[in-house]
Amino acid sequence: MSSKKSISAKTKKSESKTTKEKAKTPVAKPTKATAAFQLLRGMKDILPVDAPYWKLLYETAAKLADHFGYETIETPILEPRDLFIRGVGKQTDIVEKEMYSFTDTGGENVVLRPEGTASVVRAYIEHGMLNLPQPVKLFYQGPMFRHDRPQHGRYRQFHQACCEALGDEHPVIDAELISLCYAFFQELGLPVVIHLNSLGCQACRENYRTELINYYRSKRSLLCQNCKERLNRNPLRLLDCKEPGCEMVKDGAPQMLDKLDEACHAHFFKVIEYLDDMGLPYSINPFIVRGLDYYNRTVFEIFSEKNAENVESVKSVESVENVKKAAGEEPGNLPAQAALAGGGRYDGLAEILGGRPTPGAGFAIGLERVIALMKEKSVVPPPLPAPKVFIAQLGESARRKSLALYHKLRGKVKVAASFSKDGLKQQLEIANRLGVRYTLIIGQKEVLDETVIIRDMEAGIQEVAAYNKVAAEMERRLNN
Ligand code: AMP
Repeated sequence: MSSKKSISAKTKKSESKTTKEKAKTPVAKPTKATAAFQLLRGMKDILPVDAPYWKLLYETAAKLADHFGYETIETPILEPRDLFIRGVGKQTDIVEKEMYSFTDTGGENVVLRPEGTASVVRAYIEHGMLNLPQPVKLFYQGPMFRHDRPQHGRYRQFHQACCEALGDEHPVIDAELISLCYAFFQELGLPVVIHLNSLGCQACRENYRTELINYYRSKRSLLCQNCKERLNRNPLRLLDCKEPGCEMVKDGAPQMLDKLDEACHAHFFKVIEYLDDMGLPYSINPFIVRGLDYYNRTVFEIFSEKNAENVESVKSVESVENVKKAAGEEPGNLPAQAALAGGGRYDGLAEILGGRPTPGAGFAIGLERVIALMKEKSVVPPPLPAPKVFIAQLGESARRKSLALYHKLRGKVKVAASFSKDGLKQQLEIANRLGVRYTLIIGQKEVLDETVIIRDMEAGIQEVAAYNKVAAEMERRLNN
């Protein structure tokens, strides 16, 4: 007992000494040169745990686009800055505040694309797609960049899946695009609604603009500073303002739909008729104006069904949490006013970008927001396919054989291995964890005999097979 005591006392003493010593030893503070790097604000890593969501979304979008006859296009992430200044519009939030814009080492003014439509229309003009049968229907998905104020569901790099139909102004194109966008959410089992509006053509917009400016001028004192400044430059954007004071003024504002000329009115009601024919759930929302200048006639946005009733009443970020509480949502869920997708017609864009007059329409789905909604609604993507075979080896010559066998199995069955491991027990544990059906074991003896041991992981039975035939045998057993 006493010796035990003295030992523990000694240990304590030496421990305290070590702690003291430690305290004296200066701890190197991480300097700028050694500190670990962190993500830039508003950026997000997509980790393997979310891979099944991304795979499902990319595949669903590509499958639907293909079904509707949209061919894939990929444009560069880096584009000339003026493409968006002219295309999206000088006085939009995107161009005024949100572009990642810089001069490259060659002195060229470039931007990380904030959206894809201007790029696709540029490509349409540049590659003479005007000469192809119209409409030219194009599909793409990838990252976009906007230096916006980050919050849940709003990032500085985010991903969109998009479709554009160029060269046809028929309202059925608008309806087809809306139905395709809606089908994406249906495929995922997400209940959504479509909010629809028409911005008319240039001529209707001019009349409406004057009326809107007159109306807002009479309420100028109630507007936020931003809207006061925007009033003469871009009055339509006032309808989009999220400030509570501006919200109230907006409620009494004249509505674009009342100002449509005959042709735009007919076009819009044709779109509605087609949507009715397809039984799509839409509601007319006169405050959908979209943030980009190039839109005309049909515009639409898609919202989660649960949030839809809140879209009208909630436009300020500050009041989002209250509405979420009222709707029984968890804090941290997507803000109620966060659109999942948006799109519309842009008949004047090709001309603005230096092409011949070419009607166009399209949409973009925000994939991060779709994933956020899937998680909110507990919509679980199918897991990625798991390996069915594991290869285990014992010794260096077996390792070489394993590598070769791994390649033989490629394209036949999904296979896993841990080539750097040596112990069989450890490798079988990995195989168990992966839940494979068979483990193929190669040891010294099997190398010499040109054989492989097939271990049935469920039954625990082992048998010997010829090395040359084992790949075909695995394919036969697992794919039948
Ligand atoms: P837009 O290109 O602005 O019409 O946006 C189309 C869709 O992209 C929106 O409905 C959102 O779902 C998504 N989106 C737009 N901006 C962001 C952002 N900053 N972060 C995440 N998603 C976004």
